[in-house]
Amino acid sequence: MGRRDLVEESGIVFDIARFSLHDGDGIRTTVFLKGCPLRCLWCHNPESQKFEPEVYPLEGDTGDVKTIGSPMSVSEVINVVMRDLPYYKRSGGGLTLSGGEPLAQPDFSLALLREAKNRGLHTCVETSGYAHRSILERISPYVDCFLFDSKEYNADQHKEYTGRSNNVILANLQWLCEQGVPLILRCPIIPGLNDRPDHFAEIVKWVNSNSNIIGAELLAYHPYGRSKGDGQGSTFIAPIPTEEDKANWLSIIRSYGCEKVVIG
Ligand code: SF4
Repeated sequence: MGRRDLVEESGIVFDIARFSLHDGDGIRTTVFLKGCPLRCLWCHNPESQKFEPEVYPLEGDTGDVKTIGSPMSVSEVINVVMRDLPYYKRSGGGLTLSGGEPLAQPDFSLALLREAKNRGLHTCVETSGYAHRSILERISPYVDCFLFDSKEYNADQHKEYTGRSNNVILANLQWLCEQGVPLILRCPIIPGLNDRPDHFAEIVKWVNSNSNIIGAELLAYHPYGRSKGDGQGSTFIAPIPTEEDKANWLSIIRSYGCEKVVIG
């Protein structure tokens, strides 16, 4: 693709969050792409799962609606992202692609990342890792750090919790490690599902065995997905972890000899 083709590439965006502080280093703009092949029980953004724009009624009987997801070109997105360039320079921040699943819109993600790198931006991609290897191969040269979801290492349980096996995901994680691509594991911890010592042991094993893994963040379950009271929320509910629960998770992790796991 030439530069002109790249900036004219378009995709479906469902949100752009400026001044993000939790999606990589520094101050960032996070661009959320619509569409995801997984169906995690605890998904915070169920409105991000379908690939096409969706219309939802607003609460109440006003008849008003809101549309989630709209087509945007690379140049439209990058123009928004570049507004905060001085903040990225000062803080070491940049652009983060998230979703949904950004690797499920591979041409758009690739074009966004290439344009971001052309502009000298630091880039992160938050991904479930569920994508064809060829997509990772094309995209990874333009990614400074992956924020790689680590949901469940047991294949059957992964399928039960997300609707998909983790075979492809773990093979992709292994490949990124072999390539030495910097990444942070992001581990949603859902009480009753994956807050098990054997799951924590797997996280530690990956972190301690691979020097490209900067660390892991344990993301305590919160029922955000249920709070969207306009028909988008999920019906899944789990106990909300207490501070004591989180301290206990860390204590188990530390007992396995790992200091690079934190509560995110
Ligand atoms: S991978 Fe993320 S966006 Fe997709 S269903 Fe799971 S939590 Fe939701």
